[in-house]
Amino acid sequence: MARPASVDEVVAEIQRVRAAGGTLRPVGSGHSFTALVPTDGVLLSLDRMTSVLEVDRARRRARVQAGIPLHELNDALAAHGLALENLGDIDRQTVAGAIATGTHGTGATFGNLASMVEALTLVTGTGEVIRCSTAHEPDVWRAARVSLGALGVVCEVELRCVEAFTLQGTDAPAPLPTTVARLDELAAGADHFEFFCFPHVETALTRTNRRVDVPAAPPPAWRAWVDDILLTNRVFEAACLAGRARPGLIPALNRGLTKAAGSSERVDRSDRIFASPRLVRFVEMEYALPRAALPDVLERSRAWIERSGFPVNFPMEVRVGAGDDAFLSPAHDRDTAYLAVHVYRGMSWEPYFRAVEHICDEHEGRPHWGKRHFQTAERLAPRFPAWERFAEVRERCDPSRIFANAHLDRVLGA
Ligand SMILES: Cc1cc2nc3c(=O)[nH]c(=O)nc-3n(C[C@H](O)[C@H](O)[C@H](O)COP(=O)(O)OP(=O)(O)OC[C@H]3O[C@@H](n4cnc5c(N)ncnc54)[C@H](O)[C@@H]3O)c2cc1C
Repeated sequence: MARPASVDEVVAEIQRVRAAGGTLRPVGSGHSFTALVPTDGVLLSLDRMTSVLEVDRARRRARVQAGIPLHELNDALAAHGLALENLGDIDRQTVAGAIATGTHGTGATFGNLASMVEALTLVTGTGEVIRCSTAHEPDVWRAARVSLGALGVVCEVELRCVEAFTLQGTDAPAPLPTTVARLDELAAGADHFEFFCFPHVETALTRTNRRVDVPAAPPPAWRAWVDDILLTNRVFEAACLAGRARPGLIPALNRGLTKAAGSSERVDRSDRIFASPRLVRFVEMEYALPRAALPDVLERSRAWIERSGFPVNFPMEVRVGAGDDAFLSPAHDRDTAYLAVHVYRGMSWEPYFRAVEHICDEHEGRPHWGKRHFQTAERLAPRFPAWERFAEVRERCDPSRIFANAHLDRVLGA
């Protein structure tokens, strides 16, 4: 395990591994479900490179060391009156890890976290230090934002920020068929719209986050604990345990959880509304789809569960996002609907995920790089118009494949 404290130490470690004919994988917070990181070689963590290097308040830019976890970054930005324009469900990932897999939140006009990167510093497999942006080394920049850690070690990132803002988060149940039919309208009508739905239940649990011009009014600590920990996590986990022990109960449990979810509203600092504690362990697969394909994929996936009787006591999650230009971004060049499927830990997931993946295949679905999938480079290449351009950058940055592992051989080719 290597824990460099500077760009020079990253260069030295890569040169040492290269000279020894070894391999190296960069690791962030270890929150990916896929085997992107595991290696028999050196594991390189940037957990000593977590500083905010520079905040340009006027240009709303922040330059950070790439090992910084998102929650630390959010606090540092808030202290400067800034924020990231969008975030995913949790904030435990590192900046480097989150951008490497195309981590995203929801919002029809918002791209993923990698699309907020204005420039980055990459140490390649030859020990070269490349600082890239739209203006300088644009192909490396477009490849290195969603890189799967296959091009080198991202050491520094310059992020585009926005003025700090308050979000009003509203959770409410709604009929599933109309929510699906009106997805474009609902997504266009709010800054950040998403919904969850349990198998066997015709109700969508919608979540709508709007930017509001009022001060944050966080709930008292006990209330936040009841909502975020007790109801969202502990009660849910108890239901998951019951469903795992007695799968026959799952339809009734899913109906009960949907009813219990009810409606709620909260007004708080943006990052505290976007992200929440997730204490219930699960396995997940997520597909990025052309927006218009979502209703078909959702309906057929739910129908497969009914037909097969496969036990699923975790909801599906539907989000939206804007297209971007990173070569391997799942949202590359198309406005996207994301469908995520989960199962509770310790339960069978493969038949379910394979069935959903098969349906996504028919719509040119692109997998989330950090979540389970069964794809190979051969099947993925035709779905990414810039696949070859990424391969060219990889050839330049890692000609001797010191950043390879078995998973990357499968999904990107050796
Ligand atoms: C509970 C939970 C909730 C989640 N919610 C969301 C969500 O809302 N939206 C979403 O899109 N995803 C979500 N994810 C997936 C998660 O955001 C991604 O898997 C993310 O990549 C994890 O970041 P990490 O810091 O843990 O990186 P790791 O998982 O450790 O690594 C991810 C990738 O980044 C590479 N990497 C790490 N550091 C560097 C570096 N310095 N230079 C180059 N490459 C590097 C690694 O090699 C690897 O390929 C969730 C995951 C969990 C477990």
